[in-house]
Amino acid sequence: MKLQRLRRELRSILREAQSARPEYSADLIISLRAGISRAELIYKDDEIPAHVCRGIFSAAAKRAKGVPLAYVLHEAEFYGYPFKVGRGVLIPRPESELLVEEALKYFPKGRAARFADWCTGSGCIACALLLENPSLSCVAVDKSPQALRWARMNAKRLKLEARVEFLLNGEPRLAPVEEESLDFITANPPYIPSEEIAGLMPEVRDYEPHSALDGGRGGTFLYKKFFAAFPRFLKSGGMILCECAGGRQAEELCELSGDSFVLVNKVLDYNAIIRHIIWR
Ligand code: GLN
Repeated sequence: MKLQRLRRELRSILREAQSARPEYSADLIISLRAGISRAELIYKDDEIPAHVCRGIFSAAAKRAKGVPLAYVLHEAEFYGYPFKVGRGVLIPRPESELLVEEALKYFPKGRAARFADWCTGSGCIACALLLENPSLSCVAVDKSPQALRWARMNAKRLKLEARVEFLLNGEPRLAPVEEESLDFITANPPYIPSEEIAGLMPEVRDYEPHSALDGGRGGTFLYKKFFAAFPRFLKSGGMILCECAGGRQAEELCELSGDSFVLVNKVLDYNAIIRHIIWR
């Protein structure tokens, strides 16, 4: 099938399914599956081999059923870098890029530091930081073996294996990391209140792992454990940069952080919600 006809057919399949952003999804599926850049999609009209077309239509059918595009393509972009994702790991969110940007203000390129990324998931925050600042090293922790498999794969593809250790850890413990050895900790644990999970967008609720979303009653169950267990791994003057749901939850985190931390910044996301809180 010719490329432009394929584009038209894919768009109409996705439009009919009332899929969000049908043109964008159609082009992304074709671009990744056929190995044609998005710019070339606009002016080329090559013949696409039948077996490639079959793969493209099968991906579009999944997307039309509501499977998140990142799971269909096994690919998500975060901070401009490609990450492999699939069922069992949370899809990187654009607002978490703000956490990376914020961490780089305190630990810019060239400043050596060691950090832990708690609830690393796909490893997107850890890997983006390691790529942006080659003087960083990291311990990436997650309770899910499945998520850690994706994180390991991403670190390998991005050639970061030498600078990141992975820890499978169900509890917020960091052993064998030594106490007072970290310059900072990034944290993006599940923080959606259990009572709000049923009301999430179907694309999130029906496909993404609830274990990566559900933060218990009020959403702060894991943060309670975090603040009880993690600060002792920080050097004096060390920082915590964490993501949350804003509002009342942001206030609760400030209470949980206790007296040993000084609030450094609260970062608003694209919807003007307090999404990140930074302490020293
Ligand atoms: N921000 C994510 C969402 O809204 C939740 C991520 C998390 O719980 N850590 O789906």
